Amino acid sequence: MTGNEDTLESVPNSTDSFTFKTEIKQLLNIIANSLYKNKDVFLRELVSNASDALNKLRIRKLTDDIFQPDLDLKITVDFDEDEGILTITDTGIGMTKDELVTNLGTIAHSGTKSFLDSLKEMSSTNSNDLIGQFGVGFYSSFMVSDNVVVQTRSALPDEQAYEWISSGLENFEIHPIEKEERGTAVIIHLNDDDKSYANFFRLKNMISLYSSALDYPIHIQDETFGGEKAIWRRPEDDLTEEQYTALYQEVARDWQEPLLHFNIRAEAPMQFYSVVFVPTHIQKQIFNPDHEWGIKLYARKVLVEEKNQDLLPNFLRFMSGVVDSEDIVLNVSREVAQLNKHLTSIKKVLTSKILRELSRLAKSDDDAFLQFWDEFGIFLKEGAATDQKYQEKLLKLLRFTTSDLEHEKLSSIESYIERMNPDQDKIYYLLADNLELARRSPHLEYFKAEGIEVLLLHQPVDSLLMMNVQEFDKVSFQNVDEEAVSQDEDTSKEAADEEKVKTDLSDPILAKFDSIVGEQVASIRYSDRMVTSVCRLVNPQGISSDMQRVYRFMDQEMFSVKKILELNPNHVLIKQLSELIASNRSRELVELTILQLLESVLLIEGVPIKPEDNIARSERIVELATKYATLSDDFNPEEE
Ligand code: ADP
Ligand code: MG
Repeated sequence: MTGNEDTLESVPNSTDSFTFKTEIKQLLNIIANSLYKNKDVFLRELVSNASDALNKLRIRKLTDDIFQPDLDLKITVDFDEDEGILTITDTGIGMTKDELVTNLGTIAHSGTKSFLDSLKEMSSTNSNDLIGQFGVGFYSSFMVSDNVVVQTRSALPDEQAYEWISSGLENFEIHPIEKEERGTAVIIHLNDDDKSYANFFRLKNMISLYSSALDYPIHIQDETFGGEKAIWRRPEDDLTEEQYTALYQEVARDWQEPLLHFNIRAEAPMQFYSVVFVPTHIQKQIFNPDHEWGIKLYARKVLVEEKNQDLLPNFLRFMSGVVDSEDIVLNVSREVAQLNKHLTSIKKVLTSKILRELSRLAKSDDDAFLQFWDEFGIFLKEGAATDQKYQEKLLKLLRFTTSDLEHEKLSSIESYIERMNPDQDKIYYLLADNLELARRSPHLEYFKAEGIEVLLLHQPVDSLLMMNVQEFDKVSFQNVDEEAVSQDEDTSKEAADEEKVKTDLSDPILAKFDSIVGEQVASIRYSDRMVTSVCRLVNPQGISSDMQRVYRFMDQEMFSVKKILELNPNHVLIKQLSELIASNRSRELVELTILQLLESVLLIEGVPIKPEDNIARSERIVELATKYATLSDDFNPEEE
């Protein structure tokens, strides 16, 4: 009726040409030069745009009249295998002509410049991999196509539908079309090399991998994927153990049930939803340095990376699970500078929450915690040794065998401290290659006699731990094999004196020992710290055996620190040797005995003996036995 209406009538028949904004041209150029190793991301980008469009519609519908209010909210993926055409259709918010020009012709976001800059640096940094997981949004479609068509009809009532066409170079065109349904269809004419995407199984696999956590059902032919709220976003109370198990089996690729699961959510400073799992058993491959562990990372319900290693500290690498971030944006052109910062903050929050859950478990369910500890305790020890940030929290979770507890029982450091004698000011520990050796160690005898409890550390990782941990709750740790422990309190200063450390050669027994094994030890002296043992080796001050052990476990050339050999003057063997030495009898027997004694204590201390020495040792033992058997029986030390 009016001229105005005539104009509107005339518009639909015209085709408008537009030139892409400079930054998009740059972007398209980068895409053309194959930025992404993984072209699959294009489908994920388009489906997530469809999901965004449906979200926007759902929100608009709450307040406004919309076109076709009863239309289902869904996404459809169609394909034509022969022609190599893919179509992603949604019934979402759609776009007006202006929106088409703005949304698909410019990057209306300030991050673009910095994105393009960082793209240039990317090849030289290791964030390359991570960024490669993100897409460049809608433009990802030009990775697989030189002819992309977008047909769209806005959800605003009475809007004309339009078609947008581009070859991804300089220009795009827009013209009006007839389109019955509200929403958008993106039609991809696949390049020859990429025609294989137009295949049911390929599409199905990609959709179920990347997009099945979206809120809307995705239809491919007769099948429907997703459309249910992702498990990790549902209220915790709604979830069954079976659902957790199913999620675990999917993310961990394990057929067993998980030992533990933690449903972890955070609001600030980062918003994310997460479920993390502890498997029932250590998976052997975890000790392989090339093992790929990691957390499944989603950005607003869309899968970004299957195994992300930036979300957990190394010592929690036995865990698996899902993190779904609200703050990470799929489209890397927006947020690239923020990305690593986001991941670091999530890691911090996630790790603290996991440790809090573990300590809650330790308090509420001892059995469950100890079952966890048996399998994964070594990782927490590794963490306490290597990750300063979490050391304090981790130390509280550690459990140890002690000299006072029965074989199976374990103690926390906290409860050890509670049991300490009133005047005890140190946490005593003993390192040994296994529990058996620990319990038999001559170093324990004094502590047993004095009623002092000692932590028995018998795992390889323990040496590393004790090298890196100085104290707990202001109480310091003390290895029982160190010289300072065996000295009386008042000799603190002089203990370090050269003179004191030297063997007293005026004593005929010490002199004899010195002449036979003097080369292999720092010095030889008597000590009253033993009850049943004949002798033992202690470390000179300042050189910890923890460090020596660590070197040994790393299979490094052992730098041999000579230890002090201490003799128990009350032991019958030492008494007998004294007699023999004083009377200058059985000299060969004395020598063999002294050699054998040293070798035995070296073994107890876990110093390895070369296999080729085994034969010599066997011969020596037989010789010793023979000599003792033929020793004249008029000698009896007990009579003195
Ligand atoms: P992003 O999704 O990060 O905003 P994209 O490059 O993926 O960036 O998309 C650019 C814009 O194009 C979107 O913000 C949206 O406004 C519009 N758009 C893309 N696909 C659709 C769609 N299916 N329906 C409606 N709008 C869309
Ligand atoms: Mg997008």
